[in-house]
Amino acid sequence: MSIPNQRIVYLNGDYIPENEAKLPFRDRGVKYGDAVFDTTRTFGHEIFKLREHLERLYRSLKYIGIDPGLSLDEMASVSEEVVRCNLPTIAADEDLWVSQRITRGIVDPNERSAWPEYVGPTVIVECLPLPLSTRAKVYRDGIDMIVSSVRRTAPDMLSPRAKTHNYLNLIMADEEVSAQNPEAYALMLDHNGNVAEGRGSNVFFVSQERLYTPQERYVLPGISRQTVMDLAEKLGVPCAEKDYDLFDAYNADEAFIASTSFCICPCRSISGRLFGDGSVPGPVTRRLMDAYVDYVGFDWISQYTRYPVQDTPRL
Ligand code: PLP
Repeated sequence: MSIPNQRIVYLNGDYIPENEAKLPFRDRGVKYGDAVFDTTRTFGHEIFKLREHLERLYRSLKYIGIDPGLSLDEMASVSEEVVRCNLPTIAADEDLWVSQRITRGIVDPNERSAWPEYVGPTVIVECLPLPLSTRAKVYRDGIDMIVSSVRRTAPDMLSPRAKTHNYLNLIMADEEVSAQNPEAYALMLDHNGNVAEGRGSNVFFVSQERLYTPQERYVLPGISRQTVMDLAEKLGVPCAEKDYDLFDAYNADEAFIASTSFCICPCRSISGRLFGDGSVPGPVTRRLMDAYVDYVGFDWISQYTRYPVQDTPRL
């Protein structure tokens, strides 16, 4: 079991207990979601693809125009140190999410008067145990996706390729879907009506043993998504990024989501239509899941499925 009250967070140069970390309420991240973040995970207590995640973080920073004041290598060292400090707070068979969050800080000099020490961006690096115990059910039964009426933000409005703290678009979709079925996962369409992504995951479909995923322009380019594409290539499964509409999706043989924490999690249905006969994972998904386990050298499937199945809201 994890020990939440002993976690350490990095905040603007200091490693401090989480409950001592304070942020000014006038920070632009708090006021407007004017911030970016990235999140990776550990497998068996080792951080996965930290450099790839930080490269994406620095692309998000460049996009919104914040200089974090730390180089990528410095951010990597801080992230490793935060994980090192927090590993004693989890059990040997648990793992961590590790996130870097950078806000624009307090910009208006008038607002800064109460917090003179807050100049420049706010840099936070923090950890949280993965929600392992609540996910056994989706690995056993598969995820039921429901298509939300809320469209993913169009790239010419605010690029979905940047991982910003503006998750309201994704949260609105999720709220709508969870009101219909608290256990279902929202699937969002892009502004053209093609499949985009979920609240915190990319999506793949299998049709006639070929893999399809929405184009990068309309989604967050997930590190897990890229991992799946690389593994598919190694397995000889053709994979295409393309506009994929609901006709395609309803007729797919298999589907799964990909994300840092889920890695690959099979989907059972989309808006009430089963993929195949509804049993999961389908054969191509199974091959990719096994290849993912081999690639990371850690059996994350058993890490989730060893817990008893619970009826819990999605995490
Ligand atoms: N899409 C969105 C909107 C996300 O928030 C995430 C995860 O953070 C993903 C996709 C999956 O990305 P990754 O595989 O890097 O976790």
